[in-house]
Amino acid sequence: MSGSKYAYVKGYELPDTILPNTYIVVRIDGRAFHRLSQEHSFVKPNDERALSLMDHAARDVMDEFKDVVLAFGESDEYSFLFRKSTAVYKRRHAKILTTVTSLFTSSYVFNWSRYLPEAPLKYPPSFDGRIVLYPSSQDVRDYFAWRQVDTHINNLYNTTFWALVQQGGESTTQAHQILKGTVSKAKQEILFSRFNINYNDTPERFRKGSVQVREEITANPEIDETSGKHRKTDLRVESRIVSHHCDIIKDDFWIARTHLLA
Ligand code: ATP
Ligand code: ATP
Ligand code: MG
Ligand code: MG
Ligand code: MG
Ligand code: MG
Ligand code: MG
Repeated sequence: MSGSKYAYVKGYELPDTILPNTYIVVRIDGRAFHRLSQEHSFVKPNDERALSLMDHAARDVMDEFKDVVLAFGESDEYSFLFRKSTAVYKRRHAKILTTVTSLFTSSYVFNWSRYLPEAPLKYPPSFDGRIVLYPSSQDVRDYFAWRQVDTHINNLYNTTFWALVQQGGESTTQAHQILKGTVSKAKQEILFSRFNINYNDTPERFRKGSVQVREEITANPEIDETSGKHRKTDLRVESRIVSHHCDIIKDDFWIARTHLLA
């Protein structure tokens, strides 16, 4: 069937295999979500329904791609970490990137009405996607630390900005002006002194983002009646996806889950 005179065109498709033994991170980001969030009346600064929808779409990606061991989400973006040795799609770059991005997008659209029933989609949203390769586990840790620091910086800014506008009666221009050049501490001080908000008491979901991790669990270990010990053959390692809104910058998270970077 491959022998037609036209088949030579297939040869124009170039191989795009990803380097072996490197960590693959796929990051997707909503296209023009500033507008999407306005058009669909997202609650500012953080619409929890929209964040939960992002988490749902990420979970659908993890259900399909078993080699994704960790996903981190904030705002309109999500990062997926594949285990270093993954052979998914023979490590073909375009195949991995396009399939993850389109699966995420279709799940986002498919599940939209469950999370935002009051705001029917006005047009089809889309996401961009990129793959970044990291050679060492330290790079991967720094990557996720970078994203979580970004979550913190943006959230502190947005929380203070919208408090000034929604509760402080400032115009958006004034709010921008007030916050211009302020360090974290000054923003926390504005929140506390003007609005009696202790930043550290605001929801962890907003301050830390969403961390979805594949945990390995040993399922249904049956006890052998005569010996009282687990029968080796019955020990099945299964994985399940667990969601957290926790710190992934410090060591604790990673020390408790060494399988993520193995
Ligand atoms: P680009 O296409 O370059 O990514 P963008 O408009 O999507 O442009 P981002 O830098 O990705 O810009 O920022 C996403 C924007 O979407 C945020 O600034 C915020 O306004 C909005 N947004 C995303 N998720 C939420 C949410 N859960 N609640 C409120 N606003 C949100
Ligand atoms: P891959 O993920 O590698 O692309 P695939 O199952 O999608 O695997 P393709 O080579 O892309 O395989 O072929 C698509 C298959 O989908 C066709 O072989 C056919 O069985 C089915 N298909 C697609 N569109 C139609 C259609 N309109 N009517 C009937 N069958 C269809
Ligand atoms: Mg952007
Ligand atoms: Mg975006
Ligand atoms: Mg973004
Ligand atoms: Mg086809
Ligand atoms: Mg196909």
